[in-house]
Amino acid sequence: MIVLKFGGTSVGSADRIKKVATLISSGEKKVVVLSAMSGTTNSLVQIANYLFEKKNELAAQLIEGLRTQYHGVVEELFAKDDSKLLMKELIKSHFDFLQGFTQDSFTIHEEKAVLAQGELISTALLHYYLKEQGISSCLLPALQFMRIDKDLEPDHYYIKENLNRLIKENKGEQLFITQGFICRNAYGEIDNLKRGGSDYTASLVGVATKAEEVQIWTDIDGMHNNDPRVVEKTSPIKQLSFDEAAELAYFGAKILHPSSIVPAKQANIPVRLKSTLSSGSLGTLITENIEGGGVKAIAAKDGISAIKINSGRMLLAYGFLRRVFEIFELYKTPIDMITTSEVAVSVTVDDASQLDSIKKELMKYGAVEVDADQTIVCVVGDFIKNEKGIAADILDKLRDIPIRMISYGGSNHNISFLISTSDKERALKSLNQLFV
Ligand code: ADP
Ligand code: ASP
Ligand code: MG
Repeated sequence: MIVLKFGGTSVGSADRIKKVATLISSGEKKVVVLSAMSGTTNSLVQIANYLFEKKNELAAQLIEGLRTQYHGVVEELFAKDDSKLLMKELIKSHFDFLQGFTQDSFTIHEEKAVLAQGELISTALLHYYLKEQGISSCLLPALQFMRIDKDLEPDHYYIKENLNRLIKENKGEQLFITQGFICRNAYGEIDNLKRGGSDYTASLVGVATKAEEVQIWTDIDGMHNNDPRVVEKTSPIKQLSFDEAAELAYFGAKILHPSSIVPAKQANIPVRLKSTLSSGSLGTLITENIEGGGVKAIAAKDGISAIKINSGRMLLAYGFLRRVFEIFELYKTPIDMITTSEVAVSVTVDDASQLDSIKKELMKYGAVEVDADQTIVCVVGDFIKNEKGIAADILDKLRDIPIRMISYGGSNHNISFLISTSDKERALKSLNQLFV
């Protein structure tokens, strides 16, 4: 079994869906995980926002715009009139469902159902397109096997049991298609794995089915050594270890959902990143092996807040850090970076939703300062094996950038810097000189 995930751009038009069909319609048994067509989830988020704000007229207009767009896709994708008719009926059921919310009350539960429509439609489009082409496939409803628990973590046991049962029920089938991103929560309600979550679905499916490989097909030829949205001359990396890839994904390389490497690493399933736009290019292979030394890649994560607790000599007292961490635990807020000195400790968080309460509690222990609009720049590579001087080389490139925090030595493959977001572009461009 292999698992192939196609992202929004890879299914972003009728032509792209046809291309996906050619990539999946032969060879070994596979599960294909699809995202919504590009732009759809953003539109659904906007529709939900309008509904929350009670701007139902604007929501209705956006829904109709999207409906027209999908009618265009159906016209282009399908050749036969009866398939077009069937698909328009199916599209109608989804958009009538969305329009229903403009006549009714709207809560967070309905929001999740709204966001789920993109993946439900894209998978149906591919399945029926394959059918029209005479290619057999089986649509596996993600809402029947993908589940998160009370802590919003994947329920591995449930996923494995139910996914394998559904696959077994369709014994002769070689090609399974399912929705990325969407799931049910511990209460059986529709939920999702957060934005970009289809990658996460793919690796969870890979683990549940004991796949030989998980392939993430996207609009770029693999993990690049710097952020291609910010820096011009970046290039794809042939191989990364699970830990290196996980660090890059967590610290802002948008090509992978931050959590998507963890399950693959635990089950030791190789992850291959490939481009649907240039399917012949090698892409990136992520395995347990660590190959090559030195700096391999740079990523950046925005929207970070830094919190400094200045507590005089209290820091030296044992138990102090535990008390600080307990406050973050209480408010379910993960810490990304941490640095300590004798008189102060600084930590960073990317979820600022509980920051006011956290700050209030921390003030019991000393003066608290919060800086918003910070960016973590993460330099990933194999540093311990490498000769001395690597940190100095990296710091030299950041000579002109004010650095708020530095984290080094936490793992063998990461040096992180906290800088102001306004300096990010300059920092990434300057660090790119490490590759020339
Ligand atoms: P998909 O819709 O297929 O999931 P995404 O937009 O989520 O695609 O991810 C692919 C995008 O990630 C690329 O187009 C690129 O702009 C961005 N990206 C950010 N950092 C990196 C990186 N280090 N390497 C490759 N792509 C990156
Ligand atoms: N469609 C979802 C999103 O746009 C999930 C994904 O594309 O991975 O976030
Ligand atoms: Mg993505």
